Amino acid sequence: MKFEIGLEKLNIEFSKDKLLKDFTTFKIGGKARYIVFPKNIDELIKIIQLAKENGISWRIVGNCSNVLVSDKGFDGAIITTTKMDFFKTEKNLIEAECGCMISQVARKACENGLKGLEFAVGIPGTVGGAVYMNAGAYDGEIKDVFECAEVLDENLNILKLGKSDMRFSYRYSRLKEEKLILLKATFRLQYAGEEDVPPIEKANEYNQRRRKKQPLQYPSAGSIFKRPPGNFAGKLIEDAGLKGYRVGNASISEKHAGFIVNLGDALAEDVRKLIYHTQKTVYEKFGVLLEPEIEFIGEFETPLFEIPIK
Ligand SMILES: Cc1cc2nc3c(=O)[nH]c(=O)nc-3n(C[C@H](O)[C@H](O)[C@H](O)COP(=O)(O)OP(=O)(O)OC[C@H]3O[C@@H](n4cnc5c(N)ncnc54)[C@H](O)[C@@H]3O)c2cc1C
Repeated sequence: MKFEIGLEKLNIEFSKDKLLKDFTTFKIGGKARYIVFPKNIDELIKIIQLAKENGISWRIVGNCSNVLVSDKGFDGAIITTTKMDFFKTEKNLIEAECGCMISQVARKACENGLKGLEFAVGIPGTVGGAVYMNAGAYDGEIKDVFECAEVLDENLNILKLGKSDMRFSYRYSRLKEEKLILLKATFRLQYAGEEDVPPIEKANEYNQRRRKKQPLQYPSAGSIFKRPPGNFAGKLIEDAGLKGYRVGNASISEKHAGFIVNLGDALAEDVRKLIYHTQKTVYEKFGVLLEPEIEFIGEFETPLFEIPIK
C-alpha cells in the first residue's frame, strides 16, 4: 500500500511538506516530505512497515532539541514521538513512553518526593531522546536512574533491555549504535529522606542556575559540543576568543560559549560553518578536537572539521 494512502487508511496523523524549523528548538530546518505522529507503539510499527515497503527513508525524533536539520530538509518521513506521552508512577518506579517530556516526568517525580531526576527538570527533550544520548546535567545522568526499557529493533521486534544491556557512557547509549528505537523506559528513583534537600527545591535551584548561565532567550540546541576529557568545551571556545563570533545569524553565545544561538532566521549551513570554524580554531590553539553533541538530519554542504593527516 502506498505510504500516504496507508497512513490515511490507518487514521494516523501526518503532514506533508512542512518546515521542520517549526518543530526544532533551533528554529532551523527545511521541509520534510512527511512528518508523522504515532499515538502508540502499534502505530509506530505500522508507519515503519509502510515506509520500508515504499522505500521511504525515515528518522525518529522526539522534541528536536538536540538536532540540526539541513536547510534542504529531509526527503522522507520524520516520525515524531511526542504524542506517545503516557507515564505512570508506582512507588519509586516511573514507567514513561518515549514521547513524554523528560522535564515533566522529572518534575512529577520531584513533587512526589522522589530523588534522582532533579537534574532533568530543565532538559527540553523527550524520554526517548534523553535515553538515546544518556542526557545529563549537574552530576546526574539518565543512566543513574535507568532500570529497563522496551526497544524496537531494525526487524521490528520488541526487546526488553536492562541497564547493563544499554552500554551507557558519557552522552552515549547502545541505541546510537544499533538504530534501536526506545518505546518506553522505567526509571528507579530513591525516596528523599528528611535530611535531604527536598527534590523539588533542588530542581528549582538547578533551573535558576540554567537561567543565569544559559542563553535561554534565543533558539538553540543546547550545548553544541561534547565535553572533551578533562576540559570544558565552553571554556576552550571562550579562551580561543570566539564568544560572540558569528556566521550569518548563527552566533557563539555571548552568555555561554558552549551554545550556538539563532539570532533570527539563521541557516543550518551558517551553524555548520560556525561549528567547523570553532573546531578548527580550538584544534589549532589547544590541540583538542571538539566533537558535536548534537545530531544532524539531512544533507549539508559544509563538512565537519577533521584533523589534518601529516
Ligand atoms: C536549552 C537547552 C538545554 C539543554 N540542556 C541539556 C542538558 O542539560 N543536558 C543534556 O544532556 N542535554 C541538554 N539539551 C539537549 C537535549 O534537550 C537533550 O539531548 C534531549 O535529551 C534530546 O531529546 P529530544 O527528544 O529533543 O531528542 P531529538 O533532538 O528529537 O533527537 C535527538 C536524537 O535522539 C534520537 N531519538 C529521539 N527519540 C528517540 C527514540 N524514542 N528512540 C531512539 N532514538 C531517539 C533521534 O533520532 C536523534 O538522533 C539541551 C537542549 C536545549 C535546547
